Amino acid sequence: MSTAIELESLPKLASGKVRDLYNIDDKSLLFVTTDRISAYDVIMANGVPLKGAVLTQLSAHWFKVLSEKIPGLKTHFISLNPPAALSDGDKEKVRGRSMQVRKLKVFPIEVIVRGYITGSAWNEYKKEGTVHGLAMPAGLQQCSRFPQPIYTPSTKAELGKHDENISPEQAAKIVGDKYASRIEELALKVYSAGAEYAAERGIIIADTKFEFGLDEETDDIVLIDEVLTPDSSRFWPADEYEVGRDQNSFDKQFLRNWLTDNGLKYKDGVAMPEKIAEATGARYREAFKKLTGKTLEEALEAL
Ligand code: ATP
Ligand code: MG
Repeated sequence: MSTAIELESLPKLASGKVRDLYNIDDKSLLFVTTDRISAYDVIMANGVPLKGAVLTQLSAHWFKVLSEKIPGLKTHFISLNPPAALSDGDKEKVRGRSMQVRKLKVFPIEVIVRGYITGSAWNEYKKEGTVHGLAMPAGLQQCSRFPQPIYTPSTKAELGKHDENISPEQAAKIVGDKYASRIEELALKVYSAGAEYAAERGIIIADTKFEFGLDEETDDIVLIDEVLTPDSSRFWPADEYEVGRDQNSFDKQFLRNWLTDNGLKYKDGVAMPEKIAEATGARYREAFKKLTGKTLEEALEAL
């Protein structure tokens, strides 16, 4: 299982919780997604088989669909093909899990859009009647749909620290007034297009986190990172949705339940039993199939 990938033919620029970024040239990066998985903000010692491939192929699918649905949308996607500089051994290591992307200046906020109230937004609403400081209608129930999707940014914390929910005004202070409203407008557009597409395929995208970058040559705001995956979003099976209670999340429910039942929630360095890792991987692949209409194997064969 590929939770750590070391390439010999390209220099590594950075490592996040799930991805490793390699430098191709001045303008582009190889974006490699490992099988690492986190639950309750802790990374498991072992990975989920094929998870990196699911996230990469699903993001690529979304870049295509969203570019068709939103004329003029700029994304960082370049290609699913490995770059010419990659050795044969390295090509094997990143097969299915890598994407060439444009290297851009990342706006240092998490661009969250919520269509439904859950998680930290629900906790704040119960206490204060607000969500990220924004006034909300009275009488929302757990997991209610908002009258319209809302933009609820957060800070982008360093590795090991927690992101903090902030108001759109606070986000504007971080990214600058010049870009703030364009980012908000774009995020709402991308969420709505994605949520509509997923709803037609039996998945509710309750909320999601985008990242945007700046093309400093053209001053364009560009959709970067992973997009509308089970890692960056809450996917709920539409046929099980019921307001007033917690929903089963599409992907991590087995893992979360197992951690809770075994008193391992928030513990570092926990290894999942093979059957939990397998069941989790199967859920990721099921979401992939529902959204793309293809099995992961079919997508990988077409590469
Ligand atoms: P963190 O950045 O806090 O470590 P993370 O753990 O979610 O976040 P990963 O998803 O593992 O990080 O790694 C992806 C990293 O690549 C993120 O830091 C993201 O901001 C960055 N990134 C995504 N797209 C681009 C791009 N086109 N150019 C430069 N950086 C990018
Ligand atoms: Mg990330």
